Amino acid sequence: MMPFAFQRATALADAFAAAANRGRYVAGGTTLVDLMREGVETPERLVDINALPLHEIRLRPDHLEIGALARMAQVAANADVMRLYPAISQALLLSASAQLRNMASMGGNLLQRTRCPYFRDVTSACNKREPGSGCPARDGVNRLHAILGTSEHCVATHASDVAVALVALDASVRIASPEGERRIPLEQFYRVPGDTPHIEHVLRPGELIVAIEVPAGPHTEQSTYVKVRDRQSYEFAVTSAAVALAVDDGRILDARVAAGGVATVPWRMRHVEAALIGQPLSASTFRAAARLSVEGAVPLTFNAFKIELLPRTLVRALETLETLAVPAL
Ligand code: SF4
Repeated sequence: MMPFAFQRATALADAFAAAANRGRYVAGGTTLVDLMREGVETPERLVDINALPLHEIRLRPDHLEIGALARMAQVAANADVMRLYPAISQALLLSASAQLRNMASMGGNLLQRTRCPYFRDVTSACNKREPGSGCPARDGVNRLHAILGTSEHCVATHASDVAVALVALDASVRIASPEGERRIPLEQFYRVPGDTPHIEHVLRPGELIVAIEVPAGPHTEQSTYVKVRDRQSYEFAVTSAAVALAVDDGRILDARVAAGGVATVPWRMRHVEAALIGQPLSASTFRAAARLSVEGAVPLTFNAFKIELLPRTLVRALETLETLAVPAL
């Protein structure tokens, strides 16, 4: 590992000053330290932000506020999150390992890098790690890569589970800098690779995610996250689906749908939502809407099976909600 400086920030102003001095923020360190060990990331200075007052989870009248430094395990076990936003709790519990969930912060989770093996192997070419060097995944080991949102320059999937649930539930991130705060819908926070796969989000240098906000709504309580993976724990998604429904008298009044494990960013599916809204709560409605999920998908050599698996994952998630369906208020 390359030598680096380390300092602790106890106030936002300290953190911003350190970041301006070539610092990189670190909280749980569960992604960044791994990547430093592998030589993928080589920051000159780490700025420990754990002392900043950003750990709280608060239920506001019209939204849920999650501090960026709240740990994954803390959010997953929060009674309000479990009751009112179950997809968030479920997505977190299906992520990583118990030890990692105890350490990893919510803000860090949203910023985790891809699990593409070529990205993590510094002896391989990789446009995301070294722009212009190539993308060996396109014709190489790509079973777990994306079928949506790809480009000729990168086909890596986004790794976060909870980001999929948050995008489905219209979450925003609050971002702070010395100039003040701004708020961005999480769906607009991530960038598809295009011809700049090394730019993954709209965070500017020195900016810090301070909170995640999830609006309240009749659909959030009836939300769920289904994840298909190669083993039952400590594994990333092959496909996943976050869905939420507001239902009245057997008819779908409102719907939220997003997918993971299949796209270069957490993938909101408004066309699938449109196909659900106004329809009866039934298996045929679910199947017809889910079929739309793979419109425009571009499979690679070894991941064409996701074209079949993704609609099935969505149907499974919707069926899970159907069994829980209660009238919307
Ligand atoms: Fe790199 Fe993206 Fe290609 Fe993987 S898919 S090798 S991350 S450019």
